[in-house]
Amino acid sequence: MQITHSENIIELKAVSFSYGEDFAVKDISIAIHKGDYVGIIGPNGGGKSTLLKLILGILEPKKGEVLLFGTDIKKFKDWSRFGYISQQVTHIDQNLPMTVLEVVMMGRYPRLGLFRFPMREDKENVKKALDQVEMWEYRDRLIGDLSGGQQQRVFIAKALAGEPEVIILDEPTVGVDIKTQKQFYSLLQKLNTELDMTLVLVSHELDIVAHETTEIAYINRSLVYYGAPQKFLHSEYFEKLTGRGEHVDF
Ligand code: ADP
Ligand code: MG
Repeated sequence: MQITHSENIIELKAVSFSYGEDFAVKDISIAIHKGDYVGIIGPNGGGKSTLLKLILGILEPKKGEVLLFGTDIKKFKDWSRFGYISQQVTHIDQNLPMTVLEVVMMGRYPRLGLFRFPMREDKENVKKALDQVEMWEYRDRLIGDLSGGQQQRVFIAKALAGEPEVIILDEPTVGVDIKTQKQFYSLLQKLNTELDMTLVLVSHELDIVAHETTEIAYINRSLVYYGAPQKFLHSEYFEKLTGRGEHVDF
């Protein structure tokens, strides 16, 4: 008999996926536990975004299984336990006529009650989320009027307002400056260590990711490496990837 440990938050069992003939994701098995901070790295087109979409049920595996909180994804309904921050964060419509407060309240929608009307608890959660990212004082500003880094924090708050246990992020720092990037990673660090949130982050910033995360998954269609970041940096894979003198696109 197979025992499913409840602390397995995301489990992929020999998952494969193809859009056409070739596999974009091939035979990947991973178990992500509560409190893990997983950095998914690998070359462009290596299947990282596809893997996140398989975890979020946006795509269905051709082979293998995905389990979320120990439940087969086909039966999983508890989506409010997941927060997703896509790459689009930095590409929002600058004319979006919504205030910061309204954007973050959208994060409560999956949890709103029968009448779909925000109650006191929803409002309190929105405030708490904006406090966590230090953006409460910007609550009445239009989202389009904020800087890229501030918008990014608002979108984190939107995810937090839904009280997720896991946050999944796809290259969230593309196109932001170094200072904003640093603030962003320290916010993620706080969510992971202080709030015990499980984080799954796709990034091409290998050096940063290796110093922030508890786990590295190197994906090039199949899983090349999964384990401690320090071990990865000293592994033959890393040497092979960086020691050939050719450009490796992380
Ligand atoms: P990464 O995020 O690591 O850059 P992706 O998961 O986006 O990689 O892509 C993996 C492979 O799948 C690439 O070869 C890409 O061209 C292909 N691909 C991604 N999305 C689609 C799609 N919607 N239709 C067809 N092919 C796709
Ligand atoms: Mg991608």
